Amino acid sequence: MRFCRECGAKLFYDRTLKEYVCKSCGLTYTFQDLVIGSDRILTEDKYKKDERKKIRKEYLEWWLSKK
Ligand SMILES: [Zn+2]
Repeated sequence: MRFCRECGAKLFYDRTLKEYVCKSCGLTYTFQDLVIGSDRILTEDKYKKDERKKIRKEYLEWWLSKK
């Protein structure tokens, strides 16, 4: 059984699309998506989010210091 990376719901295999479909959030995954580098993708996503958060915080601090 495969689970959705976004919401954790069960994935259903769609024979027509040849993809796994999350019926909870609507995301689709190919078999390769699920098998190859899933940890890497998750880490990259987390890194990007942290990075964006950091940039916003720095901007806010700069903006506040101008006043
Ligand atoms: Zn989902």
